[in-house]
Amino acid sequence: MSTISELKELLAHPRQIFITTHHKPDADALGSSLGLAGYLRKKGHSVTVVTPSDYPDFLAWMPGNEEVVVYEPRQNDAQVRDIIARAEVLFCLDFSCLGRINELGDYVREAKGTKVLIDHHQEPEDFAQLDYSNPKAAATAELVFEVIRDLGDQDLIDTGIGECLYAGIMTDTGSFRHPSTSRNVHLIIAELLNAGINLSDVHRRIYDSHSEERLRFLGFVLKDKLTVLREYNTAYIAITADELRQYNSKTGDTEGLVNFALSIEGIVFAAILIDRVQAVKISFRSVGDFSVSEFSRRNFNGGGHHNAAGGISYDSLSSTVERFLSLLPAYQAQLVTAPLAPVAPSV
Ligand code: 5GP
Ligand code: MN
Repeated sequence: MSTISELKELLAHPRQIFITTHHKPDADALGSSLGLAGYLRKKGHSVTVVTPSDYPDFLAWMPGNEEVVVYEPRQNDAQVRDIIARAEVLFCLDFSCLGRINELGDYVREAKGTKVLIDHHQEPEDFAQLDYSNPKAAATAELVFEVIRDLGDQDLIDTGIGECLYAGIMTDTGSFRHPSTSRNVHLIIAELLNAGINLSDVHRRIYDSHSEERLRFLGFVLKDKLTVLREYNTAYIAITADELRQYNSKTGDTEGLVNFALSIEGIVFAAILIDRVQAVKISFRSVGDFSVSEFSRRNFNGGGHHNAAGGISYDSLSSTVERFLSLLPAYQAQLVTAPLAPVAPSV
């Protein structure tokens, strides 16, 4: 962990700054990037946010969204390489290994500017000169708030920056229900409320702005695609590329589906496997002791957090599902001896 005075020194003069975040940015990835960008612009820096891929429409309300450069390998490669080459400071937010930013990973690794990592994933790769990662943090947006505050600039957090950071914290804590939702998180939210954020607006923009097709897709997935394996306290969903096409599924439409599998009583491990044609993308979730980051790192070249992780497979969807199923017996003891206290009847 670097000291804040090192960053203060680095940012003492107006700089050319590049900010990037992980593939298929979620609300924490984009919110922490745009929140930080808004702050740095107020300090007189010149900032470009580049994402390694597109992201869901329900994040487009974030201030600064219109200036985001979405990297597209065959279309704006030269422009993005130039931005990276000119950057004096490169902020890497909400990812811990360069593999998570696809082709940009090599460009960032070779960049001359000073790299600054702000992240809350486990096992960070050692590529940044300044490192503000903390796997105990609930969200990268929580860390960005702390960095701005510790630089002595909390008063520069306005409603727009505050709503970006709030979105990241709200989504990564599962709306303040995951165990990562600390006292610190709530104290930060209180500070963001002081800055004038409208939390119901943010909630509605993110959670209540789905297309009708997305809702019908959810119905189809829950009715026809959910498999429950009681002997492993596990539930999973596998979605083919054809099914995604059939429901005109867009970026972000599959986000959160895995949580439905985990919401079944007694289920401690849930997975969703999605055929994205180039690869099968997998999301894992767990409750309690079972570490999905370890499971994913070991078996699916992935990682993440103890209870929320992702991975990838270059086999077909059916072979990937088969492999996933074949792994379960080795974990059966862990999965069945991690019983949760029975859910208390509601009164
Ligand atoms: P999600 O399942 O929502 O895509 O991701 C859950 C968590 O795991 C997020 O914190 C995400 O950044 C991380 N994650 C998702 N996919 C991967 C992956 O392929 N590799 C690694 N290292 N982390 C991932
Ligand atoms: Mn995050």
